[in-house]
Amino acid sequence: MKNLYIFFAICFCSFTSYAQEGKPSVVATASMWADMAKKIGGPHIDVKLVVPIGGDPHLYEPTPGDATMVADADLILRNGLTFEGWLNELIENSGTKAPSVLITKGVNAIESTSYKNAADPHAWMDASNGLIYIKNIRNALTTLIPEHQKSINERYQAYKQELIDTDNYIIERIKEIPEEQRILITSHDAFQYFGRKYGIRLEAILGTSTDAEVQTSDINRVNSIIKSSKLKAVFIESTINPKLLQQLAIENDISIGGKLFADSLGDEDSEAPTYIEMLRYNADTIVGALTGTSSEHMHNKQEGKSNVLMIILLAAILIGALIFLAVKLNPRHD
Ligand SMILES: [Zn+2]
Repeated sequence: MKNLYIFFAICFCSFTSYAQEGKPSVVATASMWADMAKKIGGPHIDVKLVVPIGGDPHLYEPTPGDATMVADADLILRNGLTFEGWLNELIENSGTKAPSVLITKGVNAIESTSYKNAADPHAWMDASNGLIYIKNIRNALTTLIPEHQKSINERYQAYKQELIDTDNYIIERIKEIPEEQRILITSHDAFQYFGRKYGIRLEAILGTSTDAEVQTSDINRVNSIIKSSKLKAVFIESTINPKLLQQLAIENDISIGGKLFADSLGDEDSEAPTYIEMLRYNADTIVGALTGTSSEHMHNKQEGKSNVLMIILLAAILIGALIFLAVKLNPRHD
């Protein structure tokens, strides 16, 4: 009997590995476009990710495993615009023959605030740029697997509509912030595209990349902006050490408006497990904190759930105590 189990286990394993092998391998440098590719390619592709969730793509150092992954790839999706400084070497070392597709092709790039003649890479932070990304990914996938063109196009159209709705949602939400307080202070300059699209002024302590040195003059500049515009909050980012921003918030007696996602999605249990959820969550967090309407900026989903459970538990105890008292105080006389 035991041998039979082993036999079935081996059959199952070889079947699943065959199924995996049968699908083209699409390697994405960062989690935002890994998600886009999954949404558009669906069951027809096997998506792999280089920089893990929560990692910082600006400072990433590829591993030997990455070289193998890239060597076995059928397609590589890259942001370009100086985002993945390590990618060319990784591709070269891996010896891969896979095409590497620039998914920002067609984006109206912003010049980097910290480097001369370099582009700001964070184009995905504007949902209408996201539409360019997904069109480029759709085109790359239909070239890779033309036999699934119809299914890929259907998935693409549905996803495109969701992204257009998200863009409109952000436009409407930002209008809730009084115009003079539409200022976003973050650790690094990842929100220039977001600001240009949705009408928010950006001030960051670091430049476009996360490896720039912090200057005292930058901190003084940000401090005086907070004071002069009576800002209610500053924001930390999921992939960057929050120390400096926390210090700024304490010095100015204002709150940390929440954690924003810029260079990576969050994990499955976070507020931003997908690209669209990341865009919506960022907008909600910014609007909530800058208008002072969000009282639980720092709470995540998990804490929210456990709060509800706690309230239900307390209510049950209270009702139980009341019934007990009622029975005790009204002894039957029959
Ligand atoms: Zn960045």
